[in-house]
Amino acid sequence: MTEWFNETLHEDYGQHLSIDRVLYREKTEHQDLIIFENSRFGRVLALDGIVQTTEGDEFIYHEMLTHLPILAHGAVKRVLIIGGGDGGMARETLKHQDIEHLTMVEIDPAVVEMCREHLPTLNAGAFDDPRFELVIADGARFVAETDERWDIVIVDSTDPIGPSEVLFGQAFYAGCKRCLTEGGILVTQNGVPFVQGEEITSTYSRLKPLFADVWFYLATVPTYQGGPMAFGWASDDMGLRALDTATIANRFASKSIATRYYTPDVHTGSFGLPVYMLDMFKR
Ligand code: SAM
Repeated sequence: MTEWFNETLHEDYGQHLSIDRVLYREKTEHQDLIIFENSRFGRVLALDGIVQTTEGDEFIYHEMLTHLPILAHGAVKRVLIIGGGDGGMARETLKHQDIEHLTMVEIDPAVVEMCREHLPTLNAGAFDDPRFELVIADGARFVAETDERWDIVIVDSTDPIGPSEVLFGQAFYAGCKRCLTEGGILVTQNGVPFVQGEEITSTYSRLKPLFADVWFYLATVPTYQGGPMAFGWASDDMGLRALDTATIANRFASKSIATRYYTPDVHTGSFGLPVYMLDMFKR
């Protein structure tokens, strides 16, 4: 008898994945955590009934939230990740050898510990990289209080439910802004607009008063169901989003980083948004 994981992100729409083997399950201090094996996507991490990442398609999401802003910036030394407990974002970030320091602020230590044990391909050694620093804290409080600065801030949060809800608020975005060096870039996990359109509407309205350039870019991640996923982009340097493919390609070639999704053409093309999304924030 097959056991199924039925995602509960939406009341009227959903996906289900067969659970071939449960590797770990715990109600942590913050959320309901499960790691299980699925024949199609490999090992799957879900939190509070929502798929967070799978071995099968995580590369798309993690490559697009790291290489794109890092190569657009062009001189990144320090990166801050808010969330990111599975380690995939840290793995991709630290492929850039010229990055000197990575701070990851994760609220739930159980996610880090259990992904290190049961989803080791995600961090793939990043957690043991001497450049890596783990801070167990609420990301919203951290960005409001720290006196450190970073060139890139990546918000790799769960959906705006439970502990992540605060990571979609105005105060948090203002905190991210204060943490950025001049010319820095903030990028965010911003949901699937076709079924979570209110996320890009509210993120845009909250970021626009803080940054000169606020936009979104896209990638389709199969287990983030409902169509292309949006990533928030915010910077005070209007030129960074407009860099041409040749410039990005030169920077990418100098890094000799192997990717399975990201290319310079994907980079520049991902900022092209369809009308239905433009209507969600360019009203
Ligand atoms: N790729 C996933 C997605 O797109 O939904 C996100 C993956 S990652 C596992 C999300 C992480 O955000 C979780 O480990 C969760 O514990 C963490 N998180 C949630 N709220 C947080 C907060 N307020 N501060 C720091 N980390 C938080």
